Amino acid sequence: MRILILGGGPAGLGAAWRLAEQGNEDWLLCEADDHFGGLSASFQDTDGFVWDFGGHVLFSHYTYFDNVMNSLLKDSGGWLVHNREAWVWMQERFVPYPLQNNIHKLPKNVYWECLNGIIDIQNQSKQTKPENFAEWVNKTFGKGLARCFFNPYNFKVWAYPLEQMGISWVGERVAPVDLKQVLHNAVFQNEDTLWGPNSTFRFPKNGGTGAIWNSLAAQLPSEKLHLNKRAVAVDIHKRVVTFSTGESETYDALLNTMPLTDFVKMAELDEPFAKPPSLKYSSTHVVGLALKGNPPEELASKCWIYFPEGSCPFYRCTVFSNYSPNNVPHGDTQWSLMFEVSESDEKRVDSSAVIEDVIQGALNTGLISDRASLDHTWYRFERKGYPTPSVNRDRNSTPLQVYLEKNGVYSRGRLGAWKYEVGNMDHSFMQGVEFVNHLIASGEELTLWYPEIVNNLHPSGRKG
Ligand SMILES: Cc1cc2nc3c(=O)[nH]c(=O)nc-3n(C[C@H](O)[C@H](O)[C@H](O)COP(=O)(O)OP(=O)(O)OC[C@H]3O[C@@H](n4cnc5c(N)ncnc54)[C@H](O)[C@@H]3O)c2cc1C
Repeated sequence: MRILILGGGPAGLGAAWRLAEQGNEDWLLCEADDHFGGLSASFQDTDGFVWDFGGHVLFSHYTYFDNVMNSLLKDSGGWLVHNREAWVWMQERFVPYPLQNNIHKLPKNVYWECLNGIIDIQNQSKQTKPENFAEWVNKTFGKGLARCFFNPYNFKVWAYPLEQMGISWVGERVAPVDLKQVLHNAVFQNEDTLWGPNSTFRFPKNGGTGAIWNSLAAQLPSEKLHLNKRAVAVDIHKRVVTFSTGESETYDALLNTMPLTDFVKMAELDEPFAKPPSLKYSSTHVVGLALKGNPPEELASKCWIYFPEGSCPFYRCTVFSNYSPNNVPHGDTQWSLMFEVSESDEKRVDSSAVIEDVIQGALNTGLISDRASLDHTWYRFERKGYPTPSVNRDRNSTPLQVYLEKNGVYSRGRLGAWKYEVGNMDHSFMQGVEFVNHLIASGEELTLWYPEIVNNLHPSGRKG
């Protein structure tokens, strides 16, 4: 069986890794860009600063994935391990993440508003199920937390009104609220920060997150990996892919990892699948600030900070020089901040002003104290950054996936499968691995079809 892989991000590389491990020789990976890693690639600017495409934190739900990661970066300095220090900036202060466990850190009137909302939801009927994310937020956290944090923050991240979003993805991504724990934290003045699967994480000592995927690709047979090879047409009946170079490749099974909607546009599909399904996405602007001097004391050990309020355009800032001192050329005299800004039809961004708006936001929120500390900026934009978990997502994508599989096409990965809840690096890589297991031994593709199972399978035995 000849297997063709479109895309050299984590999903495509996961499939390639598994095929090579199995001793399979009849496969080829074609990547449109001149580098591996996809959205998880890193970039070095002309001044030597390293940037990811937004703060990338590696964590894992799979022992297989851990073992592969353990075998990488041997020639480039290995890994650094960090304790997550995530914070929320609101009400003119840093509050530890997750906010819902630490509301006693807020000003008294806001604390009471949030607590009051949590008390109210204790008595509500559990019978009516929320129909969208907005309803879920109100029912799960109460009106106070919804107003002061969840509603504005989530609109900033997702760039869609919460009413347009479904709830199938929230299980592992949003910490639940427990009134007893909230009160315990308040009485004992605890900082409750350990929730979730990424309370510790590792990061490459050199080269940013992209170093992971470069190191992995370097262990694969180079003659099977083709960069600068962009697919432009697919005939799923003849099973042929044509590339921008004019070349073509035949296949028995095709792994697509480019966005599902883009794949449909370039393939000749039968009705009713000829038009791309109605799937929402948001675009991502990433702005890097390369800074002179050292981070102020209050940022000295922070990893990332969430921003729900309107004083800045970004929803998240990563203190990227804290991930590795080698993310800047001179760790003792330079540091760096990296910001993410979302965009959609429902939330427009003026891209010609976004860098200046981010700088102003960094000043407004006290991340930097003056413009004189700024050495230079870095910017990158991806039209499809987040696959939105919208209300009718699965109803619109599952029939298409079934049809494609009948025709030998498997669409996997963050935007290939369009499932945010299994759209991280470990999930995407394992979707590639499980695709191969499925082809060669009819293995179950747990990650794609049963996200709630994999997201509760932590190697450490913890639940997410
Ligand atoms: C802002 C942001 C922050 C993130 N943070 C984290 C994080 O903290 N932790 C985490 O685990 N994950 C994070 N992610 C998710 C992570 O980036 C993805 O999980 C991962 O990159 C998905 O891998 P993939 O292979 O499915 O897709 P991609 O990375 O999108 O790779 C797809 C590849 O297909 C190629 N391609 C596209 N069209 C064609 C074509 N026509 N022909 C050939 N090749 C083509 C692309 O060039 C690309 O290389 C984040 C993502 C974003 C946007």
